[in-house]
Amino acid sequence: MARLFSSLAATAKIIHDDEFGDIHIKRTKGATISVRPKTDGSLVASLPYFVPVREVQRLINANRDQLRVTRQKTSGGKTYRDGDAIGKSHHLRVSTGPREIVKTRGLTIDVTVRPDTPPARADQLIKDGVVKALRKEAKAYLPRRLAYLAMQTGFRYDQVRFTHAKSRWGSCSSTGTISLNIMLMTLPNELIDYVLLHELTHTKHMNHSSEFWRALENVCPDAKQKRRLIKRYSPYL
Ligand SMILES: [Zn+2]
Repeated sequence: MARLFSSLAATAKIIHDDEFGDIHIKRTKGATISVRPKTDGSLVASLPYFVPVREVQRLINANRDQLRVTRQKTSGGKTYRDGDAIGKSHHLRVSTGPREIVKTRGLTIDVTVRPDTPPARADQLIKDGVVKALRKEAKAYLPRRLAYLAMQTGFRYDQVRFTHAKSRWGSCSSTGTISLNIMLMTLPNELIDYVLLHELTHTKHMNHSSEFWRALENVCPDAKQKRRLIKRYSPYL
């Protein structure tokens, strides 16, 4: 019986992962095992005939953070739905009407699509609304928080800019301009602080040298842990 079960498992074409859902497994003649995301957000694995299926789960577990990010890039970013909480305080409301409308009203992002609006365009309208709300939250929160943390730590910066760079949470120029991604508003507060302190530390150390990490840990003792945690999130919209 045990033998039968293991031979069935070896021919399974789909495995299930709590985070990524059903993963289709293709048996290949090649020698390497790989897992990659498709444009619909699902994962597909290539597995040599002689390698057991459990190796796919092992590979996924070992590369979970990286897979999450590439999957988001490949599928064109996150999907937002009616009723979703956005940033720290906004809500998304998607309805159907005679005209396409995107606006924020109070803490609600109101997006109206027409019955004949193509899905890709509807997604874009929703993302426009999400950007509006996140930009508003970022402008209200981040400069104040940055000024406060700078005062606490004694770092000095010149000015703050807002970006929507796809691959980074923040940056710091040699002239002391700190650029902050509006997507920061989708992070837990302690990780926002980590990014702000990280960029403030760059006003003294422009690289990621050991001096930089020492100085950062001075003002953010659990910087190493937070650096690991932030990999679970992606600045992709
Ligand atoms: Zn850095």
